[in-house]
Amino acid sequence: MRHERPRLAVHVLPRRHVIDDEEVVVLHNAQTGELLKLPADFFALVAYADGTRDLDGIALAAARDGRFTRMSVIGSLLDTLDGYGALTDGIEPVSPAVTEHRLLTAESLDFPDLPLERLEGHLFRCSGSGACCTQYSTIGVTAGDLIRARRAGLQTLPGDNREERVTLPLYGGADRLAMTLVEGRCLQLTGDGKCGLHQRGGPLAKPAACTAFPTVLVEDGERVRLSAALECDCVFNSRDDIEGESLLSTTSSLHQLPPGLTIRRLPKELRLTNSRSVPTSLYAHWSRDTYTSTNAPWACATLAAGLGERGLRDLDASERDESLRASALTAMREGLHVYSTTMTQAAQSSNAWRSQTDRTRLLRNAVADAALALQSTETFNSRFSQQQSSDEAFALRMSLFGDHLVGELPFADALMELAVAFLVARELLESRAPVGHPLAAVLACGRGTQTKL
Ligand code: SF4
Repeated sequence: MRHERPRLAVHVLPRRHVIDDEEVVVLHNAQTGELLKLPADFFALVAYADGTRDLDGIALAAARDGRFTRMSVIGSLLDTLDGYGALTDGIEPVSPAVTEHRLLTAESLDFPDLPLERLEGHLFRCSGSGACCTQYSTIGVTAGDLIRARRAGLQTLPGDNREERVTLPLYGGADRLAMTLVEGRCLQLTGDGKCGLHQRGGPLAKPAACTAFPTVLVEDGERVRLSAALECDCVFNSRDDIEGESLLSTTSSLHQLPPGLTIRRLPKELRLTNSRSVPTSLYAHWSRDTYTSTNAPWACATLAAGLGERGLRDLDASERDESLRASALTAMREGLHVYSTTMTQAAQSSNAWRSQTDRTRLLRNAVADAALALQSTETFNSRFSQQQSSDEAFALRMSLFGDHLVGELPFADALMELAVAFLVARELLESRAPVGHPLAAVLACGRGTQTKL
């Protein structure tokens, strides 16, 4: 064994699943994208490798808990994990460097009390159908969430009321947890698609992130933009609902927000392309304006194609810019090819270990098929020349206002990904795959690790 005192590395995300009645732990290696599936009993031994014990200590601690296992078996398990890049050495677990994300809690407010800003004219109502509780690889919970959930009555796995099978650490060394999933569904979801915690204990019994979902909070230096993640059917279904509620509608400033919400802070500079950046204050003023598009995928593609030379400008000016036509089309086709390859791999990976009824598997296969169909020039041209739907116009506006496209990628690349997502959603609609709202399905699939945190 290479590590003297091994522990799970921070880039490894262990998730407990029940698949076709079999309990397993799937390790997601966030660095390589690889998956490793282990029998749950086998994985239980990994908990003893916490960075303080050598091999003897691990075997001893396991035996003390009644899990007596031969040293050679533990050694071989650790070797397997090591070969997969899942182990590191010693204590001092470090949180992943998510410097732009801060967890806001009532006790540790480190943001000034900025005003909240919403996208005017759009409301939100949760249908309570539980669809979003079935489509994420991670349902994140905190220790505080668990305390409230216990009071309401935590659902455990059948035949075993031990809480240790209800969650696993969010990632190696984390103090946050991830809920066990049964056939891809949150363990707390009832057979009729309702949150069992909510049913038994009221809305406050749910994890804070579930209560806030699909709220997205981004601090841009002057205000906090409050928008909705577009991965949820309810966002589209209720966007013009005059009886709906605004997200967190009783709240007007940051310090009035309930605890446990994640707020993303924009970096000081925004990378438009690999070689051009702008101060984020300039971008923030641009993205706050109300832009209209005539064809959302084309608006994204032309804006992206022109960012390097022309910088930020109105969507309609980009759409009308004939000089960008060839480069925008080429970039779109290339982006579609990459997207299709990635989605096909994601679907194949899901098919290898997820059950037939798992919604994530269903979504990934439907989206991969739609992306593949778009590789045909005829289908591409047909979807490309379709009229823009009001949902597409709304999704583009919400993505820009909510700063959803600011992240790891340069802004131009994120815009091009959104252009491709619009086309794939058009094809998905045409295919009549039973995935709910096509844009929500495509955008939910677009996340590398789908996370309801
Ligand atoms: S805990 Fe969250 S994800 Fe699970 S059923 Fe309740 S609301 Fe859905």
